[in-house]
Formats: sequence, structure tokens, C-alpha cells
Amino acid sequence: MGGDSGKKLASYAMRVERTQGRRYAEPAHPYRNDYERDRDRIIHSRAFRRLENKTQVFTRRLSDHFRNRLTHTLEVAQISRTVAGALGLNGDLVEALALVHDVGHPPFGHAGEEVLGRLMGGYGDTFDHNLHALRIVEKFEQKYAGFPGLNLTFEVREGIIKHSREYDAAKFPELAEYRLEEEPPLEAQLIDAADEIAYNSADLDDGYESKLLTLDAIRRGVPLFDRLVRPVERKYPRAIEKLKFNETLKRLIDTLVTDLIRTTQARLRDRRIRSVAEVRALGRRVVQLGAARRRENRELKNFLFRKLYSHRALSAERDKIVRALEGLFRFFVEHPAKLPPAHFAKTGEEPVHRVVCDYIAGMTDPYLIEQHRKHLGS
Ligand code: MG
Repeated sequence: MGGDSGKKLASYAMRVERTQGRRYAEPAHPYRNDYERDRDRIIHSRAFRRLENKTQVFTRRLSDHFRNRLTHTLEVAQISRTVAGALGLNGDLVEALALVHDVGHPPFGHAGEEVLGRLMGGYGDTFDHNLHALRIVEKFEQKYAGFPGLNLTFEVREGIIKHSREYDAAKFPELAEYRLEEEPPLEAQLIDAADEIAYNSADLDDGYESKLLTLDAIRRGVPLFDRLVRPVERKYPRAIEKLKFNETLKRLIDTLVTDLIRTTQARLRDRRIRSVAEVRALGRRVVQLGAARRRENRELKNFLFRKLYSHRALSAERDKIVRALEGLFRFFVEHPAKLPPAHFAKTGEEPVHRVVCDYIAGMTDPYLIEQHRKHLGS
């Protein structure tokens, strides 16, 4: 039943019939499988819609056709599905995981995440966007009458936790059900790699479009890009620079995605991996770029840190936003009664700083600015 029924899955793909299921049992749907239903529940969630008004790298002020977290998420889903198809993995599970992978991000991208982490650190606590995403899909989304949260399958919840990092079982006893010592299925492993390809290439694109990065600077700082631009110049000597840039970027994505597929196939073959159980027991991840492309990808990443993320045009605005987020956090911690009633009610069960953190992390960028204005008047 459902989207992948016609395609042959590899023996190491996660099969939906073998899902470890939902927390609250539900009858099967007549024509959508469990992972398709998870994908649909994610798309219909409030947290997913809020991605549209959350910053990826560039805020709306700079342009309205740069990526936001929603369009970034769609690019990750698209790259992930392509890789999944080529590897014979479960495309429905991959799509659900890609669409949910960033719902735990606070407003204003990594700057927002860092400042929340620092503020929570003041209470000996932490903020982690994967754990926050799990709380969203398990608790904060109140949509269905029969259960709290979205009641997603085990593999999607597991993927939310495990797609991008490892958690120490001793430090996170509440995550024991996800068997932290095991690797996640390949469908979850692939999200992190697709995410990185998507944001590195998108940030180059938006960086160039914003004119904060020039073609010359990119060529000098990113050897992979320089190598790929040469054949483009030979093929389209008279094309305008922007189109040469686009042609090169397209080849860059293709180069990295192709390498990811080939390297992963070779590893699966070399290690004779034939089942999800073998993937889980391997003790290391399989879905990765090969050594050469990994090095080039790191050079690209370093270049973006040096020349784009720390650019004054972005950092000046970032500082302003960080101050607003910090101000609002302290305000609500000191005046919890000013929280919306449903959030204030939670301060009976959880520490105030945690309730405030959850509230702020769920905000979109414009809502945070509006709340700051409302309570702190600037
Ligand atoms: Mg992402």
C-alpha cells in the first residue's frame, strides 16, 4: 500500500510493515501506509507551518527570495528522496524524516539556538533542537482527540533524535527506549548528509545573490567550486556570470550527491550489509561522503563560516536579535504570569526557565520581535 509499493526496496531498507509502531495503537489506513501518514501529520502540524517564518541564514529584511527554514526543509526532502531512490531505501520514511528534521529549531537560526543554549546553561540545563523537536511531536502539538502529540511511528521519533548526533545513554535516561547504542536505520543516517549538502549549496547561492560573496572569492576559497566552474566556462563562454554560477552550483550538488550514493553503496557492499539489524549493529554510520569529497565539503563549510556567516552585514543584525531573545527570556523568567495561560500553567510541573525556553523556541522570528516590543517596548 502507498507510495513505495511499486518500487523494490533494498534488503537493508526499513520496511513499513516492520515498524515498531506508534505509542497509541491506531487502525490501519485503507490507502496510506504508516510512514506516509507520519509525513502527512508533520505537514499538517503547526510546527511545520512555522518554519516559513524562521530564519535559515538570511532574515526577511535582506530579501524575500532567500531560503527560510521551510524552503530549506523542502530542499533537504528533495535531495533525500533522490538519494533514497538510488539506494533502494524507504522514500516515505525518508520524506517524513526530512520534513520534520528542523521543526525543533528556535527563531533566528543558529544564533537563536546558541543564545537559548547559553541562557539554559545558566540554570545548569541545556537546549537541544533535536530533543525539542521530539517534545513538539510528542507533547506540544495538540491536534488529535485520541492522543497527545502526533503519535508518530517509532522510526520517525528515533530518527528525530539520532539523525545528526549521538546521545550518551547515561546522560539521557529518558531516551532509553531509542536504544542509543544502536545506529539508526540508513533512512535516518541519510538526512544529516542531505541536510549538509542542501545548506552548503543554498548558502553559497544566497550568499552570491546577496552580493556578500563574489564569484572570484568563491573560486579562490572553494577549490571544488573552482574545479567545476572551468568546464562551465568552456561550454557557455558567453553566458552571464549569474548563469555560470548557477550551472556550477547545480554541478556541485550533483557531484556531492553522486559521491554520497556511490560511497554508501561501496560501504554497504564491503561490509556485506544485508539487513536493518546489521545496519543497527554496525557501531558506525554508513551514509557518508568519500574522503576526497568530504575534505572539499569541509573547505566549502569553512569558507562559508569565514566569509558569509561572520560577515558584518549578517552579524550586526544577529547581535540585535540575540539581545531581543535574551531580553524576552529574562522578562518571562522574572514575570511568568505574563506567559500565555497554557504556558503559565506548565510552571506548576516544570521549572520556569524550561517553560520559557519551550515557549520562545516555538516562536517564529516576527512573533519574537512582536512579543519583545509588547513586553519590553522596543
Ligand atoms: Mg536543516
